[in-house]
Amino acid sequence: MKNIIIFGAPGSGKGTYSDEIVAKYEMGHISTGDVLRGEIKNGTELGKIAKGFIDNGQLIPDELMIDILANTYDALPQGKGVIFDGFPRTIAQAEALKKMLSERGHDMGMMIELVVDEETLMARLLNRAIEQGRADDNEETIKKRFEVYHNQTAPLADWFENEGLRHTFNWKGSKDLMLEEIFAAIEAENK
Ligand code: AMP
Repeated sequence: MKNIIIFGAPGSGKGTYSDEIVAKYEMGHISTGDVLRGEIKNGTELGKIAKGFIDNGQLIPDELMIDILANTYDALPQGKGVIFDGFPRTIAQAEALKKMLSERGHDMGMMIELVVDEETLMARLLNRAIEQGRADDNEETIKKRFEVYHNQTAPLADWFENEGLRHTFNWKGSKDLMLEEIFAAIEAENK
């Protein structure tokens, strides 16, 4: 399987669709948010640094993230394809990912962009706060994360467009409908 980068605003469904894709195609999965939350839970040095940024809705500095990403990637079994969920979030991270993969004879494969209106995003995140109790899912931090997304991450969509990797999926009110289209695009890429 080709690698997949899943891309979208906070609450757009990156984690949800990644889980479905991983289950169907038996790919590896790297969620940088999950990696960081694991570090926080284990009380590591990295976790202590990350917590300050996450609680403020800010991004962890690129150099740190790029190291974490490379280490996590190298620890996964090779050859099955990996879904990158929550990475890259800046142009510098995208350039670094491209370089890291090409040094290993791999490439980015395809990018799946999830587009959801902001009202739906906010409702989903506030609901997730109740269900999962994530510390950064409160209204103030969510607004900050949207701002960071618009300023630092959204411009990356054009970067992927230029790489010829962008596949955009607009929210259609049904997860099953979205999955049908996403699976079809993945299968077309892997023919
Ligand atoms: P997520 O679970 O993907 O929504 O990530 C939660 C938080 O972790 C983000 O708001 C950031 O503070 C941090 N984070 C996750 N991935 C990255 C990344 N690629 N670059 C910088 N910060 C990240």
